[in-house]
Amino acid sequence: MRTSLGALLVIGLAGLQFIAVLAVVFSSYVTSERALLDHARELLSDVGTNTIAHSRGFVAPAQSAAELSARLARDRVIASDVPELMEQLFFQQLQLAPQFAGVYYGSEEGDFVYVMRSKGSGPFRTKIIRHQGGVRTTELIWRDDKFNVIARWMDPDDVYEPRQRPWYIRAKDQMTTIWTDPYIFFSSQQPGITLASPVIDRQETGLEGVRGIVGVDIEISDISDFLANLRIGSTGRALIIHANGDVIAHPDKSLLKEQTADGTLHFVDIAHIDDPIARAAFAQLEADGQVPVEQETLSQFNYNGETYVSVVMPPMSDKLPWTIAAYAPESDFTAAIKQNRLTNIWIAGAVAVLTAIAGLALANYIHKPVRAFAVRSALVAQGELDPSDPLPATYEELEKANETLMQQIAARRETEMEYGSTFALSSRGMAQIDAQTGRFLRVNEKFSEITGYSATELSQMPFTLLGHPKDPPVLLFDNDQRGTPREVNHEMRCLRRDGEAFWALVNAILIFNQEGKPLHIVLTMDDITSAKQTEEQLAELSKDLSNLARDNTMGQVAAGLAHELNQPLTAIAQNADSALFAAQQMGGAGHGLHETLDEIAEQALRAGEIIRALRAFIRRDEGCRSDFDLSELVSQTQRLLSAESRAAGVSVIADLGALPAVHANRLQIAQVLVNLMRNAIEAVAEGDDLDRRVIVEAKVDGNEVHVCVSDTGPGVAEGITLFAEFETTKAAGMGLGLSICRSICLANGGRLWHQPREPHGAMFCFTLQVGGMEATQAA
Ligand code: ADP
Repeated sequence: MRTSLGALLVIGLAGLQFIAVLAVVFSSYVTSERALLDHARELLSDVGTNTIAHSRGFVAPAQSAAELSARLARDRVIASDVPELMEQLFFQQLQLAPQFAGVYYGSEEGDFVYVMRSKGSGPFRTKIIRHQGGVRTTELIWRDDKFNVIARWMDPDDVYEPRQRPWYIRAKDQMTTIWTDPYIFFSSQQPGITLASPVIDRQETGLEGVRGIVGVDIEISDISDFLANLRIGSTGRALIIHANGDVIAHPDKSLLKEQTADGTLHFVDIAHIDDPIARAAFAQLEADGQVPVEQETLSQFNYNGETYVSVVMPPMSDKLPWTIAAYAPESDFTAAIKQNRLTNIWIAGAVAVLTAIAGLALANYIHKPVRAFAVRSALVAQGELDPSDPLPATYEELEKANETLMQQIAARRETEMEYGSTFALSSRGMAQIDAQTGRFLRVNEKFSEITGYSATELSQMPFTLLGHPKDPPVLLFDNDQRGTPREVNHEMRCLRRDGEAFWALVNAILIFNQEGKPLHIVLTMDDITSAKQTEEQLAELSKDLSNLARDNTMGQVAAGLAHELNQPLTAIAQNADSALFAAQQMGGAGHGLHETLDEIAEQALRAGEIIRALRAFIRRDEGCRSDFDLSELVSQTQRLLSAESRAAGVSVIADLGALPAVHANRLQIAQVLVNLMRNAIEAVAEGDDLDRRVIVEAKVDGNEVHVCVSDTGPGVAEGITLFAEFETTKAAGMGLGLSICRSICLANGGRLWHQPREPHGAMFCFTLQVGGMEATQAA
C-alpha cells in the first residue's frame, strides 16, 4: 500500500509529538506517585529518627546528672551525710534540666534528700529524712527560684522508706545505673521514668559496697508535647510504644493514662488506646510480637477506606526499649500531587492539542508545495495547464522532477497530437476498440460518417453490432490466442444506422502492452460498396455482352445467309415459273413435270419467305432504348478491357468532357465500344510504334453525340473492305465485328464510319442521339 506524504507528515509531526506528550505525562503520572510515596516514607523515617534523637537528648542529661551526683558523693566532694549540700546540688540540677521532676538520694542508713518541683507553697520542695540518735525526722522545705526558703515544717507522719523502693533495690543489686520502665508518677500523676545510680563505697578490704543511691525522676510528657508539635503530612501522628506494648508518648497526652479499679494510674496499651488509626497500624504488630522491631519497617495499611503509610523504628537503646511509630494518610502527601497531576494532565492535554495543531500546520506547510506540485502535474497531464506555465515556489528536488516530468509530458503530448491528428484527420474510418469487451473506445469522424452512428452512440456498442444480421458475426480476434501482435483483414457486410447495408473493408491490429496483455484494437474501415457495385455491374455487363455478341454474330450470319440465298431462291422460283410456262407452250409437259415445276416454284417461294422471316427475326430486336451516361459506359468498357490493354502494353485514354445523357440501347452501344476499342488495341499491339495509345473521344454535335475511337496502330490494311461481313485480316477473326457495329448504330438511329488517322492509325466514329428527345426509329 502506498502512503501519502501528507498522511506521513501528519502522523510524524502531529501524531508522534502527541504520543510523546502522552508518554511523558503517563510516566510522570506513575513516577510522581511512586516518588511521593518514597518521600512520605522518608519523611516518616525522618520523624522516627528525630523523635529518637529528641528522646535521647531528653533523657541523657538525667543519666549524667545522677551519675555526677553519685560520683561526687562517692568521692566525698559532697558529703552524703550532709543533706543541705546534697539539697543544693539537686536544686541546681533541677534548675538546669527542666525535664527533671525531682532528684534524690537515699542512704544505707535510711536518710533521704529529695528536691522536687512543686505546685504548692514554692516552686521547689525539699524533703529531708534524717536519723539522728535513733530518731527519725522528716523536714519539708519550700524554696523559690533563688533557693530562698518560703516555708518549712516537719512532717511527723512521714513513713517513706527509700531503701525499700524498687529503684533503690535494683540499683543496689546491679551496682550500676538502672532505668525503670515508664510509669505514672504518684505525686505529679505525669508519666515518667526513674534513673538510679549507686554511690559506690570502696572498702579498705577492696570490697565494694553501696553507700546510697542517687535517683532522678524524669517527666516524659514533654516528649508527647514534642510529638504533638511534629508535623507529619497534615494529619499524620507519631507515638512511642514501650516494648511491653504501653503507649508512653502520644501527641494527645490525655490518651496515655487510664485508671484501674484500685485507683492507680497506668499506661494504656497500644491495643486499647483511643486512637483507632494507631491501633489499626500497630496493634497487630504488637500482637504478632513484632514490637519492638529489629529494623526500621515501612508499611502501608488501609483504614476506613483510606490508605496510610507507617513506619516503626527499632528500639532506642537497651535501657530505653522504646519504639517510635508514625503513620500518615497517603493522601496527605499525594492529594496535592494528585491535584497537581490533574492540572498537569490538563496542561499536557492542552499542550498536546496545541502542538498537534502546530504539527498539522507544519505538516500542511511542508506538504503544501508537494500537493500543489501533484495537482499541477495532474492538470498538465490532462492538458488543462500549459507545461510552460511557471512552477510555484517549491523544493529543489521537486523542481528537478518537474523539469523531467514536463519534458516527458511535452514529448508524450507531441506524439499524442501526431497520432490524434492522424486518427482524426484520416480519410479512412478509424476506431480504437477495447480488446476485452470489443466496445468502441474512440472513433474518428470518417468512421461515424461511414456507419452513420455518432461517436457517443458507438461508445455504447460493440463492434460486432455493426455486422449485417444475416451474415455470420465477424470476430476480430480470438481472446484465447494471445501473445503476438496480430493483424486481420475482412471484407464484411455492415448495416448503417439508417438500416442501409454497405460493404466495408476492415483492417484490425491488436496492440499489446509490455506484459503481453492485449490493450486495444486499432481498426481502419473503408466503405467499398461502390467498388463492389461497379465490380458487380461489370460482371453483369460482361455477361450481357458475351450473350449479345453471340446473338449478334448468329444474327449477322443468318442475315448474311438470307441475303445471299434470297437471289438464288428468287432465280429458282422464276426459273421454275419460266420452265413451267415453256413446258405449257411446248405442250409436251406431262402432268408430272407440270406439278414438279409448280412444286419447285412453290418451294422456292416458300424458302424465300423463310429467309425473309429469318431476316425479320434477326432485325426484330431493335432493343430497348433508354437515356444513359455515356461516360460511365466508356469507363466500364475501359475496365472490362483493362486486362487486354495491360497485356498489350497499350494505354486507353478516355477524353470525353461534359456530355449529356444519350438515348440508345445501352448494351448494344457497349458492344460497339468493346468491338471498336478491342480492334484498336489489337491494331496497336500489332504495330511496333512506341506511341501505344487508344483514345476515346466524344463531343456534342447538335442533337447528336459523336464518339470516336482512334489508335496509334498501323491503320486499316489495304484491300480490306471495311464493314463487309467475313472480311478479316486476323487469323482467328470472323470479320463480323464492324458489320455488326454498323448494324447496331443504324438500328439506334446513328451512323458508323472509318477515317484514317494522321500520321498513322485508324479512327472509327459513330453517332448517338442526345437523350431526352423523341427517339427516331431506324429504318
Ligand atoms: P475481325 O476483327 O474479326 O477481323 P472486323 O469486322 O472487326 O472483323 O474487322 C474487319 C477487318 O478490318 C479487320 O480484320 C482488320 O483488318 C480491319 N480493321 C478493323 N479495325 C481496324 C483498325 N482499327 N485498324 C486497322 N485495321 C482494322
